[in-house]
Amino acid sequence: MSAKCPACGSIIYSRRNVLCGVCGRRLPHELLFTGQERENVERDLAEAKHRARLATEARLAREQRDSY
Ligand SMILES: [Zn+2]
Repeated sequence: MSAKCPACGSIIYSRRNVLCGVCGRRLPHELLFTGQERENVERDLAEAKHRARLATEARLAREQRDSY
């Protein structure tokens, strides 16, 4: 399936382009990501979730300790 410019509907041939070659509009990130880039983003998200969980656990542990 080819990605299309949401503004003018023309097919995006190169996902390296940030701008549509026909109408010059900025293209949405999800159309531009390659598989590898998508993996990087998903890994970053997973790491962010992991850090958020660690922060929550640390806060809960601190609250438990403070309640004594
Ligand atoms: Zn366009």
